[in-house]
Amino acid sequence: MAGREITLKNCRYVVRDHKVIEENIDILIEGRYIVDIGRGLGGGDEIDCREAIVLPGIVNAHTHAAMWIFRGLFDRGELHEWLKNVNKAEEKLTPRIVYLASKIAMLEMLSNGITAFVDMYYFPEETLKAVKETGIRAALGPVLTDEVVEEGESEKLVKSFIEKTKGFSRIKTVVNVRSLYSVSPETIREASKLTQKYDLDIHMHVSETRREIYLCKKRTGLFPVEYLNSLGVLNKRFILAHLGWVTSWELSLIKDKNASIVHCPASDMKLATAGFFPLRESLDFGINVGLGTDGAASNNSLDMFREMKVAVLLQRNNYWRTDIGERDVFRMAIENGYRILNIKGGVIEKNNVADLVLLDVKDLNLNPLSRRNVLSNIVYSANGNNVIATFVGGEIVYHREQKEAIYHSITDTLEEIQECINEIA
Ligand SMILES: [Zn+2]
Repeated sequence: MAGREITLKNCRYVVRDHKVIEENIDILIEGRYIVDIGRGLGGGDEIDCREAIVLPGIVNAHTHAAMWIFRGLFDRGELHEWLKNVNKAEEKLTPRIVYLASKIAMLEMLSNGITAFVDMYYFPEETLKAVKETGIRAALGPVLTDEVVEEGESEKLVKSFIEKTKGFSRIKTVVNVRSLYSVSPETIREASKLTQKYDLDIHMHVSETRREIYLCKKRTGLFPVEYLNSLGVLNKRFILAHLGWVTSWELSLIKDKNASIVHCPASDMKLATAGFFPLRESLDFGINVGLGTDGAASNNSLDMFREMKVAVLLQRNNYWRTDIGERDVFRMAIENGYRILNIKGGVIEKNNVADLVLLDVKDLNLNPLSRRNVLSNIVYSANGNNVIATFVGGEIVYHREQKEAIYHSITDTLEEIQECINEIA
C-alpha cells in the first residue's frame, strides 16, 4: 500500500547530504518514504516550502532521555563525582516519572529537528511507551547488570522488550551495558551473545575518563577497546559511546571490527573528562562516527545543532588545526546516525525514509543565505528554534504552530515533575 502523499513544493534549499545542495526543488513523499525529488512534482497534500531549508532528520546517537528531569541540577563535579550525585537522585525516580520526563525530552528533541535517538536508561519500557506516543524514531532497550545476568533473567528481559516493539517499524531494541567498570566480563559476553542471537545492537559507555583507562589497564593489562576485543564482543553491532581516551591501535581494532563510535563533545567537556577524541583520525580510518548530546543532566541542551558546532570547535581547539568542518559534523549527526540505526535514511533520496526537517529561511540567524553558506549556517549559526516542522516516516510529528499547545498540554506533568525535583534537590 502506497500510503498518504505529501509534496514539499519549491523548497528554497534541499540539503540532500553533506555534499549536495539543491535549490527550488520539490520532494514527493508517499507513505513512509521519499519517492521522488525534482521539479514540477505534485500530488497529495502540498506544502509550500519557498521559505524553507529542508534537510534530512538528525540523529541523537547517544542520550538518556529521562535525565531531562535533572537538567540544571548537577552542574558541578567531574564525571565520577557527578555520577555519585546523580545515582543518589536516581533512587527517587519512579517508572511514572521516567515515562513523563522522557516523553518531554522527546517532544523537545522533535522540536529541535531530532528524528531519532539511541537511549540507555532504567525502566526502558516507560521510555518505550513515550516513544510510541510521540512518533519519534528510537533505539532503546534493557540495561544488563551483573544481578540480572546472575539471576538468568537477561534473555527474558530482551525477549519481552522485543515483543513490545513489534508492529513499530520505527523502534529498535538495543542491549545496553552501562560501562566496563560497572559490570563483570560475563555480563558483557552475555549481552553480546544476545545481540547476536536476536540480531540487535549493543550500546555501551567506553573510555570516558583517564581513571577508567588506568583501572582497566591495571586490572586486565589492556586498554578498554583491546579488552572488549579480547572478550570477543567487538563487532559491527557495537556502539561505543564517548571514547574520549583512545589509542590509535584501538581505533584500528574498531575499524577492523566495523564497530561505531558516538562522540559527545559538550557532555565530555562539561564533565571535565578532558579527553582528546581523535575525530580526524577516526574519520580517516573510515570508522562510522555519530554524534550525541548525552543526557540533559550533563549537556544540558538536547540540541544537535549546538552539538555539531561544539564538535568542530573542540577539535580545532585541541588539535590546532581547522581541517574538521561543517561537512564532517553534518555527516556525523545525520548520515552516520542513520548508519548506526541501520536504516536507509540520513540522505534525501528516493526510497529513503521520509525523516525530514524544515528550517525557516526568514530567521535572521540563518542569513545572509546562499547555496554557498547554507551548510555553514546550519552548523555554526542554526539552533533548534529555527525548526518549522519535523517529519518522521512521512508524518509531521512536530510543527512550530503547536508549540503553545504542547506547552499547555504538559502543564500538569511539569508540576508533577517539579514535585519529584523538590524531593531530589
Ligand atoms: Zn551517556
